[in-house]
Amino acid sequence: MSYNCTNILKWTEAQLKYTYDVTLQEATPQELHEALGEAVMMAISDNWSSSKKARLQQRKAYYFSAEYLIGRLVYSNLYNLGILDEMKQLFAAQGVDLAVLEDIEDAALGNGGLGRLAACFLDSAASCDLPLSGYGLRYKFGLFKQSFDEQGSQKENADDWSKYGDPWSYRRYNHTVKVKFPDHTVLAVPYDVPIIGYGTHNINTLRLWQCEAEEELDFNAFNDQDYLRALDQKNKAEDITRVLYPNDSTWEGKRLRIKQQYVLSSASLQDMLRTFKTAHGNDLSRFADYYAVQLNDTHPAMSIPELIRLLMEEGMDFEQSFSIAQRTFSYTNHTVMSEALEKWPLDLLGSVVPEIVDIIRRIDEKLKWEHPGLYIIKDNTAHMANLSVYVSTYVNGVAEIHSQILKDDLFRDWYQVFPDRFQNKTNGVTPRRWMGLCNPELTQMLKYRIGGDFLKDLDKLADLKPMIDDDMVRQFNAIKRQKKEQLCKVIAEKEDVQLNPDFIFDVQVKRLHEYKRQLMNALSIVDIYFRLKNGELPDFHPTVYIFGAKSAPGYARAKAIIRYINRIAKMINNDPAVSDKLKVVFVQNYNCSYAEHIIPAADISEQISPAGTEASGTGNMKLMLNGAVTLGTLDGANVEIAQEAGMENEYIFGHTVEQINAAKDSYYARGIYDTDSHLHRAIDTLVDGTVPTDDAQKELYHALLDGASWHKADNYFVLLDYASYMDAKLRVNHDYADRLAFGRKCLENIASGSKFSSDRTIRQYADEIWHIKPVRF
Ligand SMILES: *Cc1c(COP(=O)(O)O)cnc(C)c1O
Repeated sequence: MSYNCTNILKWTEAQLKYTYDVTLQEATPQELHEALGEAVMMAISDNWSSSKKARLQQRKAYYFSAEYLIGRLVYSNLYNLGILDEMKQLFAAQGVDLAVLEDIEDAALGNGGLGRLAACFLDSAASCDLPLSGYGLRYKFGLFKQSFDEQGSQKENADDWSKYGDPWSYRRYNHTVKVKFPDHTVLAVPYDVPIIGYGTHNINTLRLWQCEAEEELDFNAFNDQDYLRALDQKNKAEDITRVLYPNDSTWEGKRLRIKQQYVLSSASLQDMLRTFKTAHGNDLSRFADYYAVQLNDTHPAMSIPELIRLLMEEGMDFEQSFSIAQRTFSYTNHTVMSEALEKWPLDLLGSVVPEIVDIIRRIDEKLKWEHPGLYIIKDNTAHMANLSVYVSTYVNGVAEIHSQILKDDLFRDWYQVFPDRFQNKTNGVTPRRWMGLCNPELTQMLKYRIGGDFLKDLDKLADLKPMIDDDMVRQFNAIKRQKKEQLCKVIAEKEDVQLNPDFIFDVQVKRLHEYKRQLMNALSIVDIYFRLKNGELPDFHPTVYIFGAKSAPGYARAKAIIRYINRIAKMINNDPAVSDKLKVVFVQNYNCSYAEHIIPAADISEQISPAGTEASGTGNMKLMLNGAVTLGTLDGANVEIAQEAGMENEYIFGHTVEQINAAKDSYYARGIYDTDSHLHRAIDTLVDGTVPTDDAQKELYHALLDGASWHKADNYFVLLDYASYMDAKLRVNHDYADRLAFGRKCLENIASGSKFSSDRTIRQYADEIWHIKPVRF
């Protein structure tokens, strides 16, 4: 395996010389990143190519995802190669601090949890030698960059992530495919990103499609001196992969989105058919014997009709094509909330991909003939989740509780007919990025205690349990304190806010969504603020509440919540009466790299969605692995976190799924508001001028207490869960004071975290869904 670091340094210098005419010491961070990236790509080329060859004849799996929230690759690639520390030393000897690469932007080709999961899965598959390739889209602009203005409002800026280049992919023009639409044909050009396994030679591939025009320039128009029209085709093609849709857990019925989904589906399947023929010959009836495809939500579900269409084009009949598709695909569901489920109006879909609609109609007819009562098409609308359940081998949810809800609720009728199809695969996160890389201090301590390379076998964490003693707790507390100091520096620099590392760090970082209830957290902070000012909480341990979240640009309520939190932060941080007790900071542009700073410094992990709404969550797992206790509801993977670590090591509150279902029709939000004077006072700050208010904040107030005309108040049960939330929040604050007892809880969390490695998850997919085996060379 051993990579020669001295050579990589030499190649980096050579690259800098001939592409930029600068020395190592003169190079900008961007130039250094480009050159080092090129050098590493050169160093891995033999292993990458051997990895591909070794699996040519093997059964393989493909992950189809519209999103990959990759983050920054330079450190994680060096880390997985096992050369990060040595490279740092070699560069330091030349007077170059590799920390300058912190300036390199994240590759944010995803929104949140779903996209980050895809990235963690690729890391884990490569590290476990599993033959899994990724297919996705190479958006020119990833998720927008966020900043806050004077009013505290979110501003969005374009994320031109590859403007200085992209050393971590190779353009493979020779594998370009054509994708046809009624009015034009576009080229899908693949860019291959190496996925470097940790502690293995193996290197997998993520293939991202970029749309380009067949003819860049219309020469007739050009000769007519109509320069703009001459570029029409080019723009129309490139528009398709121009930008990532910034919605998380909300569906938006846009034409361009259909085009994106179809390009991902068609290009990837054409590529697989080509590869199949090269490796196994022209008998496509064996396609599903060699290939399994996992659909990451329904975004790539057009692959189902598209594979049937492509096989029929090759001369197969509908029934056989259907059967191959059904044996090829499996589908992961990520949400039960109706606003997130993709439902395409057939006339819209038909105007962009008419042949796909024809096939969906045939599939729907077959379904209705075989299983009256089930449907894909209803009211001239195609329900993509139903399509994905019908034409797949397995359907899975992403945490136990979520998979159960799929069987009980969302897919109840389907579960009656296809009981063996339904599985659970509880999500996970890669311990390389989310422990090894972001928390080397903790990793070092654990290595010393449990030995070996536990990042490759997270089950070893359990060995820690019998060893936890006061010494270890003190050592852990010292490391946590160190990570807080580091985060204070980052926040001082980025946000110009000074924090005190002696405070409790209470963290809620995730996309901004009403169901995630950042508003409930904010209201509780306002409540605590007023109580502190009244001297009601004499023993309150000083706490900083840290938020990080982007809102979809068109999501007015979410943006109003951001504004409100920024305004209460300003009020609290400027009030000398509480300055030794309370701080609130909403960091700008929360992304993977920011997460890598915040998560190791957290004491408390806020996971507070109403039970039954968060399918799994993965932020909760990252925080657990870094020794934060969970302040959370019995929702998603929180349930399993509490199971693994023990209820006594978490702070679980709120109504259960059953209790919410029982309460939701009778519960009266205003009744709670009228009787809880503390909550009453906190909610009033949305409208009473305590902080600057606006119409959107007033709308939030009415949504909590009165509801919009067409539905009930407080859809996410903020008032219903509030009392028990506040109780748990004050309990964890009180418990923190006993530093040894609290630190022990943190260590119990770490020692119980092995289930939440995505290595475990990906091995379950490999064994129970894809039926693939490791390939070593
Ligand atoms: C892990 C992660 C998420 C998902 O967080 P949840 O709390 O599970 O919603 C979102 N964004 C980033 C940048 C992440 O790293």
